[in-house]
Amino acid sequence: MNLADSEEMFAQLAARGFVQTDCLEQADVVLINTCTVRDHAEHKAVSFLGRLGAWKREKPGRRIIFAGCAAQRLGQQLKKQFPFLDLLSGAKEIEQFGDTLDESSLFPPAAPQGEILSPGLTGYVTIMRGCNFACTYCIVPSVRGPIKCLPVADILANVHRKVKAGAKEIMLLGQTVNAYKDGTCSFADLMNKTTEIPGVERVRFTSPHPIYFTPEFLSAVKDNPKIAKHVHMPAQSGSSKVLSEMKRGYTREILLEKIQELKAVGFQISTDLIVGFPTETEDDFNQTLSLVEQAGFSAAFCYKYSPRQGTPAAQMKLHPQNVLEQRLDILLNKVRSLAEDAYQAQIGSVQEVLMESPEKGRSSSNFWVQTKQAHPVGSIVRTEIEKADGTLLFARN
Ligand code: SF4
Repeated sequence: MNLADSEEMFAQLAARGFVQTDCLEQADVVLINTCTVRDHAEHKAVSFLGRLGAWKREKPGRRIIFAGCAAQRLGQQLKKQFPFLDLLSGAKEIEQFGDTLDESSLFPPAAPQGEILSPGLTGYVTIMRGCNFACTYCIVPSVRGPIKCLPVADILANVHRKVKAGAKEIMLLGQTVNAYKDGTCSFADLMNKTTEIPGVERVRFTSPHPIYFTPEFLSAVKDNPKIAKHVHMPAQSGSSKVLSEMKRGYTREILLEKIQELKAVGFQISTDLIVGFPTETEDDFNQTLSLVEQAGFSAAFCYKYSPRQGTPAAQMKLHPQNVLEQRLDILLNKVRSLAEDAYQAQIGSVQEVLMESPEKGRSSSNFWVQTKQAHPVGSIVRTEIEKADGTLLFARN
């Protein structure tokens, strides 16, 4: 989501005559787009901002913009701490970023047609902002606010722009992306409409919430070959007790039911898991291990619980670090070996691979595939899988 937001903000700067550079010394403006989901990410962004004080003093006229979730959460206190900071733009104001630049009088006026940053093969398209849940460990609802779905016409216009700039694959984005609705247009309708745009070869989405995977959604998308058969669905825990204390809105049983329904129509599923939530007992942790086995995830990102100031869970008593580390270690080992099994299970299958380099690409179900021959970047190659090694598949041609 931050990549998509950065592209959107860059388009506003490009409309005012700026071009992108990776070289700090060449830059006239630094835009720091921040994340605040984890404490560590926020610290890194703020300490980078602190180091930019010297950069700004080197040349008059240099400008610094601090944007995104950490800007929303920390607000004006950042201006007090870093008086050289020129502009703050919180996560709730990304759509008004152009107005923020104009009101500051620090930037030239916008040209009518802003240049779009080349998106590469994947065009990230935000379809909604905010979240209506209140998971007890999560800071997102307080910095991004409740759900706001973007109009379907604006989303499709954005997809057209991304395709024109070279994207082959479109990634639809939202905190609970499958809760999308605009009038009578559901998330499934939006997915199907996106695949109808000439030049779109594949559509992905992230992050969905399990409860919004309805049978209607599955029957609407299952036969559309342009919809990637992969879902990254955060489970967070395998214990119904912990899921309820996290206020996730589902039980282990509901989660497993959704996973079975998705698998029945050909989706591979990856997930996020948290170990060491404050109320997690040894038995709860073992239920997460058994969920991983039962669900057959193709991949899982595993995190130690870390408290976020201002969330209900931050008031709870923490587990000692060694307990968190031990549980993470056990979970990672299990996830690694099950992921290798998932790759082995693909041998003999036929996969459609979108080539991201001449000899490597990603299958519809999100496995990395190495081909024998070189293929044009951006082409879709239909090929049989010959062997698997760790987390890489090898194609017959
Ligand atoms: S669903 Fe829960 S974890 Fe995800 S963004 Fe919303 S509150 Fe946070």
